[in-house]
Amino acid sequence: MATLDGLPPLREVIQAHDLVAKKALGQNFLLDMNLTAKIARMAGDLTACDVLEVGPGPGGLTRGLLIEGARRVLAIEKDPRCIAALEEISAVYPNRLSVLNADALTVDAGALLTSPIRVIANLPYNVGTELLIRWLSPAIWPPFWQSLTLMFQKEVAERIVARPKTDHYGRLALLAQWRCDAKIVMHLPPEAFTPAPKVHSAVVHLTRLEQPRFAADFGILQRITAMAFNQRRKMLRSSLKGLHPNIEIMLTACDIPPTARAEEISLEQFCALSRSFAAV
Ligand code: SAM
Repeated sequence: MATLDGLPPLREVIQAHDLVAKKALGQNFLLDMNLTAKIARMAGDLTACDVLEVGPGPGGLTRGLLIEGARRVLAIEKDPRCIAALEEISAVYPNRLSVLNADALTVDAGALLTSPIRVIANLPYNVGTELLIRWLSPAIWPPFWQSLTLMFQKEVAERIVARPKTDHYGRLALLAQWRCDAKIVMHLPPEAFTPAPKVHSAVVHLTRLEQPRFAADFGILQRITAMAFNQRRKMLRSSLKGLHPNIEIMLTACDIPPTARAEEISLEQFCALSRSFAAV
């Protein structure tokens, strides 16, 4: 069957390069090019952007990004078996695709690309959350990227966009929503992947805010939310008591009932509490 870019269909690429999926590398490939182009479109207009893709595998999403007009793509892939297949794509798009055979956790990708930069990836499940936390926690904000369009297990996606008083609400929601607008833009069943994983997946689109949504010191906010959610069933006067001898007074001054539990507290309230700790 003819493809939009004239390259072989992904099943043939996988066969030709003997890319038997490795579970240890989180390899669940997307082989439907309509779907990969749709994910690329979820990130917005790419024509004036550099794109960082982590884990291109046989290149289904990479090809979608290039078909959708990405100015330049840097694709970082840990599995050396995929590199020859990716170089074939690079040959069809001169100067638009750079392939790096490396562990994405060890690469300072922002230094290798030109702004504006979007990160778009079907992330390996084993390092997806760690990469997201790193992208949301740089020493200086705003970060090198403008938006993140990322495939996660559905449960992780729900933790990123969760609201207070829901089961998935926790530190990941607070971190993501403090610094970004975050929404789920697509749901995918296991059968969309080869091989099919056990769980459903979802694509989350995060757009950075130029300033965090509410003023707070990052380190203090992290410390408070870690203590609060590490014992999420406990009342805050108990889970946070190690922070300050007068924790009940501090909570009350921020309009937070000392008997409330972490999952009932909004991002705005956690930021207010962080500011009062910064002041003591
Ligand atoms: N993008 C492809 C697709 O959508 O079909 C493959 C996605 S697959 C879920 C994840 C990819 O990430 C695999 O190709 C895997 O080899 C790669 N990978 C795993 N760990 C990695 C790491 N630490 N750095 C870079 N790539 C990694």
